[in-house]
Amino acid sequence: MKRKLAHIGIAVPKLADAVPVFEIILGKGPDCYEEVTEQKVKTAIFGTGESRVELLEGTADDSPISKYIAKKGSGIHHLCIQVEDLEAELRRLKEAGLRLIDEVPRKGAEGMLVAFIHPKSTAGILVELNQQPNE
Ligand code: ZN
Repeated sequence: MKRKLAHIGIAVPKLADAVPVFEIILGKGPDCYEEVTEQKVKTAIFGTGESRVELLEGTADDSPISKYIAKKGSGIHHLCIQVEDLEAELRRLKEAGLRLIDEVPRKGAEGMLVAFIHPKSTAGILVELNQQPNE
């Protein structure tokens, strides 16, 4: 199965402050902005070759991103690895003894299937897995 780094999610207090800094670093503006209402998060997405940098701002105090920043401060929130068959990958990881937050894939932004691995199993970093809708 092919796997690749799809994106790095960075929790920021304010997109308006973080976007101009990443514009300088990456030499370009965001490709798009997205709001995921059910996650209470808005995102600025920068394409960088095969992978993307996603700046994440919570839109409410009970957003997972706002809670993360309150607890740990801003910084890298998660990595996302794209896989070809997410259900098979979740079975494989579970058999390997990893603790999964999502035992079955759920729908994410852009029709992606997504699932998260618990940071307790991954040296403290939240890992997201995703699969393109048409694969
Ligand atoms: Zn993500």
